[in-house]
Amino acid sequence: MKKLKDLILTYKDFPKKGIDFKDVLEILQYPDIFQDLISRMSSTQFLKNAEAIVSIDARGFIFGSAVALESSKPMIVARKPGKLPGRILTREYDLEYGKNSLSIQNNALKKFNSFVIVDDLLATGGTVNCVSRLLQDQKKEILGLITVIELKKLEGRSKINFPVQSIISL
Ligand code: AMP
Repeated sequence: MKKLKDLILTYKDFPKKGIDFKDVLEILQYPDIFQDLISRMSSTQFLKNAEAIVSIDARGFIFGSAVALESSKPMIVARKPGKLPGRILTREYDLEYGKNSLSIQNNALKKFNSFVIVDDLLATGGTVNCVSRLLQDQKKEILGLITVIELKKLEGRSKINFPVQSIISL
């Protein structure tokens, strides 16, 4: 029988040379394993005290929305450039392979005071740090990060000043 770890596929040199891309999409083809993963992510202690989840474009949306349903929490999104209508707050960040920016809709953000961030993978921590700066600029509280995978050797945790719950450490 397949286990969660077997469903994390590694693609060497994607999207550029030197990056071992960890693909989580295979998990979605195994509903029992996906359900078990979402139950584990949703039982994270610090999630209980959060008013809402903020999930990160794009794979973070898959896990964030499932955790939001399982835990009955509202969810808002942090999206890549050019995707969100209305008034937005934006910040730039460095990625393991490049530069990007993330935006959050002002109207969505102002409804909640405390958040848990959900993403598929923690690498250098640049992405999560960008979201946390967006929230902290607006005086919002961040209770923690829940992620499917953590790439230990990139030490993303050391850049983050709140608890991290990762299901798989690689
Ligand atoms: P980082 O900002 O370096 O922590 O990168 C985390 C974000 O980039 C996540 O949203 C991931 O989807 C993506 N990412 C970075 N490195 C990888 C990798 N090696 N494999 C898969 N996704 C990655």
